Amino acid sequence: MREFFNVVPPDEALATLLDRLDVSVRGEVVQTAQALGRVTAEDLVSPEDMPPYPRSTMDGYSVRARDTFGASESLPAFCDVVGEVAMGSQPQVCLSTGQAAVAYTGGMLADGADAVVMVENTQRVGDGSIEILRPVAPGENVIQVGEDTEAGDTVIPKGQLIRAQDVGVLFGLGITQVAVAERPRVAIISTGDELVPPEGSPGPGQVRDINSYSVAALVEDAGGLPVHIGLVPDDYPLQRQAAMDGLERGDVLVFSAGSSVSSRDMTVRVLDELGPPGVLVHGIAHKPGKPTIVALVNGRPAFGLPGNPVSAMVVFGIVVRPVIQALMGRTEPPVTRGVHARLTKDIRSATGREDHVQVKLIEGEDELLADPVFGKSNLISTLVEADGVVVVPLDDGGLYAGDEVFVRLY
Ligand code: AMP
Ligand code: MG
Repeated sequence: MREFFNVVPPDEALATLLDRLDVSVRGEVVQTAQALGRVTAEDLVSPEDMPPYPRSTMDGYSVRARDTFGASESLPAFCDVVGEVAMGSQPQVCLSTGQAAVAYTGGMLADGADAVVMVENTQRVGDGSIEILRPVAPGENVIQVGEDTEAGDTVIPKGQLIRAQDVGVLFGLGITQVAVAERPRVAIISTGDELVPPEGSPGPGQVRDINSYSVAALVEDAGGLPVHIGLVPDDYPLQRQAAMDGLERGDVLVFSAGSSVSSRDMTVRVLDELGPPGVLVHGIAHKPGKPTIVALVNGRPAFGLPGNPVSAMVVFGIVVRPVIQALMGRTEPPVTRGVHARLTKDIRSATGREDHVQVKLIEGEDELLADPVFGKSNLISTLVEADGVVVVPLDDGGLYAGDEVFVRLY
């Protein structure tokens, strides 16, 4: 068997590709109601002040704050209630000294009012008057014009993932359509003489194709659009033909399996001979997932993932996902989501290799425990059981039971 020519650290493998990639984002306009999970293609700017008028944050009375100064339970301020401002209506009353108007949460203030007294801090006296038991400062219990967003403010910057709250603010501003990055199409090809479609029954020596589907799910999760090219045997002309189809129908090409160095592994040749510059990286210093290929074919990123379903998924996260994000102009949040937990068992690792260890989180007595899910690396059940992953860095020899570790969550 040939050896890997030049194994590189995972982040270097990714950088090698990203450095050469043209990441000019293609935008498209979608309905805001359909924009969840998409990435903004431009700064989204507020067309107006929100709110456009001062709103009460309480049920109570709008007042002139100075009329309440010095008020207390023993010496309340006295006001005449001269009307109310109904919800969804503009005020019909204008306050003079010593006057108040009924206010509702979210409603407008009466003209002349600059604060709202909570109903709990008032007492009705007689007909149409109140005692105010506590003073309010000007602006108290009021959302000012533009306090939420001001006209011209960037409410969501370009390159940001649109979340539920973002959908909310856009509708609040009347923005019913948004420009988002097109979802990169990712062509997926599964290779291997032993593979059969999942609906078939595998004969002796055959296995069902997992990777077409797990990789497609990861593509969707990353914001891309999976394009199934299909199952291809270990045959060079057929794989080359499939690869060309894939590059025609996809912005990104992902090959599963055949990425190693045996005589049956031809992905590296296929990807290298499709177009310049070809294979950039063959072999990453990572466990699982050493047999990984990173290529660029006429400006399109192409990958050879290891066939082992666990490795394929882990490597996808390292090199393919960031490329999908880059093609959408996505700026990643500055922190990786995860939790700190105490390791329950030793983890051994070779230096010069980054290890991803699957862990299950267990609620301990007064802390969270990270329990490594060991087992042969090709068991997909280890991934299914896991809640997250602990990364042992390149230059680390391992971790010990009792160490505090950071668990990146799935
Ligand atoms: P390879 O990368 O071709 O050496 O394959 C490594 C292992 O992964 C072998 O046991 C393959 O049978 C298995 N494998 C390859 N492709 C798939 C797939 N699409 N689904 C499930 N297992 C696969
Ligand atoms: Mg194979």
